Amino acid sequence: MPMTVNQTMKKFFGFTEFKPGQQEIVDSILSKHDTVAILPTGGGKSLCYQLPALMLPGVTLVISPLIALMKDQVDSLGMQGISSSYINSSLNAAQVKERLYQACRGKYRLLYVAPERLQSEQFDNIMRELPLSLIAIDEAHCVSQWGHDFRPSFLSIGSWVASLKQRPLLAAFTATATTRVREDIINGLGLQQPRIYINSFDRPNLRFSVEKSGGRSRFIREYLQSHPGQAGIIYAATRKEADSLYQELSARGLSVSKYHAGMSNGERNTAQEDFIHDRVQAIVATNAFGLGIDKSNARFVIHHNMPRHLEAYYQEAGRAGRDGEAADCILLYQPADIQVQKYLIEQSVLSPERKGIEYGKLQSMIDYCHTSACLRTYILNYFGETPLTDNCTNCTNCLEYELRDMTVEAQKVLSCVYRMRQQYGISLVAAVLAGSKQKRVLQSGFDRLSTYGIMSDWQTRQIVEFINLLIAEGYLSSSGGKYPVVMLTPAANPVLRGQEKLMIRMIPKPAIDIDTDNDVFEALRALRYTIAQQEQVPPYVVFADSTLREMASFMPRNPEALLQITGVGELKLKKYGQRFIEVICRYIPDDDIEDLPGKTEARPSNAVNSKKGRSIPSRNPKIPTHVISWQMYSEGKSLKEIARERDLTVNTIQSHLVRAAMAGYAMKWEQFISNPQEELILQTVGETGTERLAPVKEALPEDIDYFMIRLALIKNGLLR
Ligand code: ADP
Ligand code: MG
Ligand code: ZN
Repeated sequence: MPMTVNQTMKKFFGFTEFKPGQQEIVDSILSKHDTVAILPTGGGKSLCYQLPALMLPGVTLVISPLIALMKDQVDSLGMQGISSSYINSSLNAAQVKERLYQACRGKYRLLYVAPERLQSEQFDNIMRELPLSLIAIDEAHCVSQWGHDFRPSFLSIGSWVASLKQRPLLAAFTATATTRVREDIINGLGLQQPRIYINSFDRPNLRFSVEKSGGRSRFIREYLQSHPGQAGIIYAATRKEADSLYQELSARGLSVSKYHAGMSNGERNTAQEDFIHDRVQAIVATNAFGLGIDKSNARFVIHHNMPRHLEAYYQEAGRAGRDGEAADCILLYQPADIQVQKYLIEQSVLSPERKGIEYGKLQSMIDYCHTSACLRTYILNYFGETPLTDNCTNCTNCLEYELRDMTVEAQKVLSCVYRMRQQYGISLVAAVLAGSKQKRVLQSGFDRLSTYGIMSDWQTRQIVEFINLLIAEGYLSSSGGKYPVVMLTPAANPVLRGQEKLMIRMIPKPAIDIDTDNDVFEALRALRYTIAQQEQVPPYVVFADSTLREMASFMPRNPEALLQITGVGELKLKKYGQRFIEVICRYIPDDDIEDLPGKTEARPSNAVNSKKGRSIPSRNPKIPTHVISWQMYSEGKSLKEIARERDLTVNTIQSHLVRAAMAGYAMKWEQFISNPQEELILQTVGETGTERLAPVKEALPEDIDYFMIRLALIKNGLLR
């Protein structure tokens, strides 16, 4: 009897389970459909063609731009008992001939080549003799001008395939999810009625943050010192910067290595090995580093500079925490980064059209550095996903900043832009608002504008930041290009006229009100220390300080509640949960033990008495924000009323209710969706699937919004 897919996977790859999305992709290929597979970096794309290669008759041709990785892949396939080979420019003519000969004899299941190889007559002749059953195109975004590394040679794949007598199956793989790239892949490669699989790009364990405070090397130094025993990558923009950062860090006794294309192969190998085997704490590298590195426990990726676009950023940052454990992705932003990237675009040999595209992407990257919205949501939106909530609770904007009414300040900026006739860049607008005596300001007579100096209580740097923020939030637009001009967008009108309030997340939240010498915290810390000793790991590996602090604040007393604490994952819950709960329960007065019926929400510790009898001041009950909204809703308030009372947008309240509904809180569905609407939504979902909501929304009438779609799905158990 032939082996099943699962048996084959276990036998050759040793995996018993598919990673998310893999099974569908493999099935699609095995049922002879052209396939587009979009999985994030580390999502396991290779298996998706390697496994079918073993199950289909004939040979699988793998086309990949990454010559450096071919040997690794072929070697590791060999270790698993799978015969494969590669043909690329690293081989001499005799070697190529030998391998082609072996391919003819049917020796290989998989053959790796770069796209340029298809132009070779010798290769082409042999391919026409082979029973090719599948062509897998890895890094398929290279076919698209909209992708981040366009390779013209990819454009020839489609016509080459079309010229074959017998058309093999085509499967394209990429980690780039934008619609444009996807369309280019389908058209550029000539895929026929492809099945498209997109797995969520969300990486919940990654904590995103943007640091704008300056002093980058000091930041990195302090980060490394305060995270001993944790390894990670530091990306610098240029070789020169990598060199100097490396020097500075090692001069201060930090254990780092460096990696860039200016070093010899040997040096780079050593650096990489040292990093992979934890012999150094961090590797300082340019973007030459990382492709094909499979170090799963990188705990941080720090970008010393802003990269050119989010595709590159997310790919590089995504190398942190591939093991699923918490990891930091920190971008150290300085305004000068923008100039560097613009310079690089200008200097490049790209066509004017391509330059325009690059400027657009750069602006999205700049906006990421300035948005006050959830950073994760921002990234996912960029890649075409619509996340469920706009508060991920695991990025700096969600964690550390509080919504604040900035209407008046925004009005000042917007009207200044207007009065300057929307013809100048950020720095001049800021200078006028700050009341600068610069020649350019005075010569143009801007000191006579009514907006001159109306923000003189701000530092110019802060005004620049704020203008960038308004661009990122869509109230202003930047013309892009070499000398960008700031202009008003339609969204600015209602703000200028005072019809709309502008709430922006920008003021640091007050730190959790807890004295760190509090007894509960100390007891938790003692327990953590004991565990760390037993397991021979540093204490923060068990739980971070912030996690203990949150525990001390919320006092979770059952596993479900403990799981709500940031930093408590399933595994740690299983390993340590019970012991931490025991400690917490020691500090809960007996009469406060019974739980709210039906709720697993962590509860605040209002009246915790210490062992010594010293009473800790009672804190504000900290109920999760979505639960507060839900409570107001269930008291009969309208969404608008709740939004007004809470100083939040209706959108936010909707997302709160969605979260509450998902957590099982009661909902009067018919208030939001009628029966026919619900039916229509379910019908549409039946056709489009539930992976992404944008296509569902598109297929539905205008008056059905995302909120209604989500509620309908939750009600029917289709969204979890
Ligand atoms: P991608 O090309 O999508 O970035 P890879 O194909 O390099 O990802 O796979 C990333 C890692 O995941 C590799 O170490 C691979 O061995 C591992 N992997 C792939 N599929 C599975 C699976 N089903 N179970 C466990 N590990 C897997
Ligand atoms: Mg890959
Ligand atoms: Zn967030």
